[in-house]
Amino acid sequence: MQPDQNEPAGIYLHIPFCLRKCPYCGFYSISDLSLKKAFLKALMREMRILGNIPFVFDTIYIGGGTPSILTAEDIGEIVETARQFFRISADVEITMEVNPGAVDQERFIGYKSVGVNRINIGAQSFQDTNLLFLGRIHSEKDINPAVKWARKAGFDNMGLDLIYGIPGQTRKSWLLDLQKAVDLRPEHLSCYMLTYEPGTPMDKDRQEARFCPLPDNLAGDMFESTIEFLSANNYVQYEISNFALVQSDKKADKRDNRSRHNRKYWLSAPYIGLGPSAHSFVEPVRYWNTRSVTKYIKDVNGSRLSIDGKEVLSRKQQMIEAISLGLRMTDGIKTDAFDKKFDVSFKKTFAETIAYLEEDGLIKLTENRCSLTRNGMLFADSITSMLI
Ligand code: SF4
Repeated sequence: MQPDQNEPAGIYLHIPFCLRKCPYCGFYSISDLSLKKAFLKALMREMRILGNIPFVFDTIYIGGGTPSILTAEDIGEIVETARQFFRISADVEITMEVNPGAVDQERFIGYKSVGVNRINIGAQSFQDTNLLFLGRIHSEKDINPAVKWARKAGFDNMGLDLIYGIPGQTRKSWLLDLQKAVDLRPEHLSCYMLTYEPGTPMDKDRQEARFCPLPDNLAGDMFESTIEFLSANNYVQYEISNFALVQSDKKADKRDNRSRHNRKYWLSAPYIGLGPSAHSFVEPVRYWNTRSVTKYIKDVNGSRLSIDGKEVLSRKQQMIEAISLGLRMTDGIKTDAFDKKFDVSFKKTFAETIAYLEEDGLIKLTENRCSLTRNGMLFADSITSMLI
């Protein structure tokens, strides 16, 4: 199966620096900023090495790490270099993650002026006790100014990230967080359940019983309350953790507030990842860069890609991914497209399991879609493993 080069692809750029490491975070980043300059040079060199990729890119996502430790000039140079070496579509979505504790009005104005057109603010919680537990560098008072500055700088496409399921949190206090978030009217909300990533300090503390994780049923209640609350406030869920504001005013009639970039991950669309630890996927091949800034810089300066691993997905693995990723989205799996791609009948192949899951109210099957119900979403992983 050859990748479809007409399908718009995405670029992910991993900025591997944070002012301080949050104890729950499994993403690769370091807090020694002395390598920043050498890293930026290497990142642009990596773009040059990859330059001839035959895709048109309609998304650039600058994530990390904490990209907002970079100046507008740094971001401008990155965007400019991407435009120089890759075919970038005219209506490209350029998203940048911003930490409310590492940004100011000037930076937002600068980011906007160099072409960033979507901002994702890592608010995580509007309560300082939660932010303290998460080890964030910001406090509640930093969030509203960040949103205000972004709006003032002209960003009309903004996302907020929130975390729930934090020890000590109640359903009531989570709903308060959601209320404060929707009061700011961001175009997009991501609500992630706190997970304990193996190898993180927080996971170690959990194993050593230094705190008591929230019971699963309470976290499940919060998940269901999230969907109800956000839907009552005009946010439509399109993926387990992601919600887009439905805008009905005439000007924004046709506006789609879903993350164009993140949808590529769930739809198995092609994307390339640059920077340490970044993953790339051009079906059926996935590869990932080394998780070391120094090795990355050394490799790229030697005109080599800094690839740490690669896998070629078998047809069966591709099917498994299409199912597990498809079920994350409220649109579900398009069964006719699935049948065409894998030359099988989805409905016939999984008839027995689907009937069983339908009976339990966990899955919905329509003429050409198969998706999880709200209750099913709580058991997405187990349901996926029943199907594969
Ligand atoms: S700021 Fe973000 S990327 Fe950095 S350590 Fe915290 S959660 Fe991880």
